[in-house]
Amino acid sequence: MKQIALYGKGGIGKSTTSANLSAALSEKSLDILQIGCDPKHDSTRMLMHGQWIPTVLDLVREKGEGNITTEDVVFSGYNNIRCVEAGGPEPGVGCAGRGIIATFQLLEKLDALYGDVIVYDVLGDVVCGGFAMPMREGYAREVYLVTSGDFMALYAANNICKAIARLSKRSKPCCTLGGVICNSQNIEGELGLVSEFAEKINSELTGFIPRSQIVRVSEVNKKTVLEYAPESEQADVYRKLAEKIMNTNPDPDKKPTPLSMDELETLAQKYIKA
Ligand code: ADP
Ligand code: SF4
Ligand code: MG
Repeated sequence: MKQIALYGKGGIGKSTTSANLSAALSEKSLDILQIGCDPKHDSTRMLMHGQWIPTVLDLVREKGEGNITTEDVVFSGYNNIRCVEAGGPEPGVGCAGRGIIATFQLLEKLDALYGDVIVYDVLGDVVCGGFAMPMREGYAREVYLVTSGDFMALYAANNICKAIARLSKRSKPCCTLGGVICNSQNIEGELGLVSEFAEKINSELTGFIPRSQIVRVSEVNKKTVLEYAPESEQADVYRKLAEKIMNTNPDPDKKPTPLSMDELETLAQKYIKA
């Protein structure tokens, strides 16, 4: 079973990329489980044709953990992709990260944590102990950093890289850096910048996803690009990404090398110019 996680700054395109990636993987007759690990809980919405599925944490609060069945939390979406939303704590109380782990433990208890590929879609603005849980506890085994050429997106990606580097020093490494996915924001010099960033952190550019209107059109039609516009070039971009990820087997001995703030700023200055 391949367990991959897409981490990145809020709004960078993690959920869009995750859902299209899951859809592309499902075309290969693979059994896919996608778990949204962002309190925003909209990771699986396009796979569910616009439906906001109940979150695990809401259900735990309403029914109590012992009364939850698999049918309550796992929903069948496009191409039989199984969809779960962890959800978040009540505003002002609780820890989102703990909630994510509680979700995984519940899914394990229900024997629902299976498939050929599990795609975790995780918020990465803050790489606190909470949001690092999926990596630390050995669920998110291959981490992909979703970024664009935007400086703050790279800053977030670099912080996630720091967390992976720290965790990979443990005697039993629990996660590896799979690569960097550039979800373009049409920034000048973006491809060069993100490619060099990937190289500098001892990784590689797994894919470059162009900014495309078809993504937004598919979204308003409550579908992934793979479903709404299967013949489009953008659909092929996601298929290529799926292929690349399936063929990636990160070496646990290849440790990521996050940049210092100075190095990151110098790199950005090289590509982002007036
Ligand atoms: P995140 O999950 O990282 O918070 P989303 O996947 O929700 O981000 O994406 C934020 C917005 O950006 C969405 O409205 C989505 O349609 C749009 N978007 C994401 N990727 C692309 C792309 N490649 N081209 C055009 N729009 C995109
Ligand atoms: Fe929030 Fe992270 Fe602190 Fe948990 S560990 S309460 S997710 S900031
Ligand atoms: Mg999201």
